[in-house]
Amino acid sequence: MNRKGFLGIFCLFLLMGCENPRLHLLNVFKSIEVEVSQNSVAYPLLTDICDRYGPRLAGTESAARAEELTAILFRSYGYRNVFFQPFTYNQWQRGKALLHIDTAGSFEEFPSLALAYTPSANISSEIVDAGNGLIDDYNGKNVTGKIVLIHLGLLPGTPENVKNTNRAQKLALAVAQGAAGCIAVNASPGDLPVTGTATLDGGMIKIPAASISMEKGTQLRKRLAQRNCYARIQTDNTCRPATARNVVARMEGYDIPEETIVIGAHLDTWDISPGALDNTSGAVSVLDIARTFRALGLKTRRTIDFVLFMAEEEGHYGSELYVREARHRNRLQGIRYMFNHDMTINTYGFNLMGRYESEDFFREIGELIQLTDTSFSNTIAHFTHLGSDHAPFIFEGISTFTPLCEYMDFHSYHTTADTPDLITPMMLEKNVKVSAMILYALANAQELPATLFTGEQTRQYLIDNDLQESLVVSGDWRWD
Ligand SMILES: [Zn+2]
Repeated sequence: MNRKGFLGIFCLFLLMGCENPRLHLLNVFKSIEVEVSQNSVAYPLLTDICDRYGPRLAGTESAARAEELTAILFRSYGYRNVFFQPFTYNQWQRGKALLHIDTAGSFEEFPSLALAYTPSANISSEIVDAGNGLIDDYNGKNVTGKIVLIHLGLLPGTPENVKNTNRAQKLALAVAQGAAGCIAVNASPGDLPVTGTATLDGGMIKIPAASISMEKGTQLRKRLAQRNCYARIQTDNTCRPATARNVVARMEGYDIPEETIVIGAHLDTWDISPGALDNTSGAVSVLDIARTFRALGLKTRRTIDFVLFMAEEEGHYGSELYVREARHRNRLQGIRYMFNHDMTINTYGFNLMGRYESEDFFREIGELIQLTDTSFSNTIAHFTHLGSDHAPFIFEGISTFTPLCEYMDFHSYHTTADTPDLITPMMLEKNVKVSAMILYALANAQELPATLFTGEQTRQYLIDNDLQESLVVSGDWRWD
């Protein structure tokens, strides 16, 4: 909403003899600030969930126990409409992964992790350095039957106009080029191999892929520049059907209940760490925002769905299911925003994902947030991507946004180092406070600037935001 819009509502409220809406928002924001500062449970919940359940790969026993706990928590906060959304998906299970590098007859084991949805294998071959693993990196190279070494990010010295693609696309390209295996190098420093999904369609890919740390990758690349090196990759992975459940707490709107704001976070993690940042941080934020709303007795004109999604890591299965269910129940058209929390700490603004029509509204609300939280810089960004649970909502034309977060470093991402010692209570509270404030403002606004895109508008939006190519590669482009 623009300033004129606010003025209009202001006058309307004066005529109606109601409290000035800006003053009302400011008062609610102040109460949120006090409630979260004094009573936030986000941090103790984060350490409890991480310590009690550890890694929570969707469909495992520990994940199921975490689903149960969060449903109990929502109910304990006072939500009466709490329900599960069960679904079955193709779960990948990690076995052992061994990577040996042979340089001039001397064998060395490199610490490694299999990428998810890579198969069991036992292969040996020469290593070929395929740089960033992008199409141009294969020019003039014959990698048929070889093991390719690829960087998961962009190597230093890569020209600025080169656009990176995701890990699954790089693996698909390596398969298409005829590689027999892949060594994938972590894009972040920290001396740790990284995991993550290598599949584009949920099935097992054809070749084994072992990740190594950035530091080991640099070392191997230097060796390869001097002499031929060989690798042996031994992996032992399987797939099986597994059942997981989204957990939803619904707070019905008192005025326009058919309109919904969805706030969600994935509760699942990879299998190698408790996922303190990715994504216990987001899950406990959503729980604590839900708790704050009930603790303050906040009522909203629109319905709010607080959702903990499962199986985000393997391919957004839980959020896809939520969207399917909403369509089935004729609720999809009423979803005005999807507010996604994935690795959310130290929030200083909002990423509106290329939905410029919402900018004025967010900026105005952000100015009020700044009056209660001076550390909030009210930055608006448009970093559009499809790498989390907001993606299935984008495909339906729904406006999505996320907190804009400040990370000290990113070394723990998808590694064994994603542990609670990385997180402080303050980091979480900064997200909970401003996210609760914007959520309240959206759920109570007289009018919202977000429009539901038509199929054609969604198509154009994806093209304008450079997302068409990756969707074509993954087989998810459904607009032509
Ligand atoms: Zn995540």
